[in-house]
Amino acid sequence: MSDNCLFCKIIAGEIPCDKVYEDDLVIAFRDIAPVAPQHILVVPKMHIVSTNDLNESNASVVSHIFVTARNLASELGFAENGYRIINNCGADGGQTVGHLHFHIIAGRHGGSMF
Ligand code: AMP
Ligand code: ZN
Repeated sequence: MSDNCLFCKIIAGEIPCDKVYEDDLVIAFRDIAPVAPQHILVVPKMHIVSTNDLNESNASVVSHIFVTARNLASELGFAENGYRIINNCGADGGQTVGHLHFHIIAGRHGGSMF
C-alpha cells in the first residue's frame, strides 16, 4: 500500500467502490465516471505506479488482469459483442491515477480509436 494513493485506499476498503470482482491479486470495480454502459477498472492489489514500472518479477499480474477481464466480459454478458481494454501510461498517455489499472469498456460500438 502506498500512502495517498486513491486505488490503494479503495483496495484497503478505506474508500468505497462499486466492486464487481476481487481475489488475492486484483480488484475490479466500476469507474466513477463511465464513458460507456460498461466501464470497469481492473487494478492489481500491489501498488505499481504505471506500465513504466512493470518488470519480469511483477508483470505476471498483467496476464491475470487480462484473464479477469475476459471472465468479467463473459459473466457480465458483453464478451460476444466485444470490448476494449485500455491502459493509460503517464501524463501524455492520459493517466490520472498513479496506480496501474486497465479500463474495460463495453456496451456501445466504439468505432476506430484514432
Ligand atoms: P486514468 O485516467 O487512466 O488514470 O483512469 C483513472 C480512472 O479512475 C478515471 O476513469 C476515473 O473516472 C476513475 N476514478 C477516479 N476516482 C474513482 C473512484 N473513487 N472510483 C472509481 N473510479 C474512479
Ligand atoms: Zn496504489
